[in-house]
Amino acid sequence: MIRACQTPQTQDNPVVTIQVEKGQLEVVHGSMFGGKTEHMIARLRQAESQGLRVRAFKHCIDDRYDPDHLITHRQDQFDAIRVPGAEAILRQCDGVDVAAVDEGHFFKLALISVVRELMKRGISVIVAGISHDAWGRPFDPMPQLTEMADRVVVKEAPCRVCGEPSPYTQRMTQINTIHMVGGLDDYEPRCKAHFTPLSGPPEKR
Ligand SMILES: [Zn+2]
Repeated sequence: MIRACQTPQTQDNPVVTIQVEKGQLEVVHGSMFGGKTEHMIARLRQAESQGLRVRAFKHCIDDRYDPDHLITHRQDQFDAIRVPGAEAILRQCDGVDVAAVDEGHFFKLALISVVRELMKRGISVIVAGISHDAWGRPFDPMPQLTEMADRVVVKEAPCRVCGEPSPYTQRMTQINTIHMVGGLDDYEPRCKAHFTPLSGPPEKR
């Protein structure tokens, strides 16, 4: 198992060129604004340049900027298929070499068995997602996928208060869902010292 944890992270870190291997899992996790989607798009472009057939997926709930593309906070973009849940990914991966899932936390625990099945079919999988929710708890299924991963990349934005790498994402406005869909104004990356978990009861997952 290869673990390539790159810390501290900034959005400007170059993506290391690595040959995508058949049936392997790469997990990219960290805080919001850490550059997870940028990393994923760079990996997909690498894979395409190697002649591999790639397909990117996003959850229907994630319509912050554009429903049909992976969109970074810097407005880079890559074609993506919107799906209502993890199972739908399996049905759209015939002939695919590399499947990418953005905002993996939206797919909940159902994503785990889907990723296993894709890997069993020889499809390489890249999953990006937030490592901790607004309550400071590990954000399923990212910890479980990290345990399964052949490669793990940590993308933590600098804490908005002190500049240290931030594993947490601070909710700055009222919240009524666990899904953590939001834009620049709703969240800030925070280190452990400057993170204040939400106090209200989270919605059931
Ligand atoms: Zn801090």
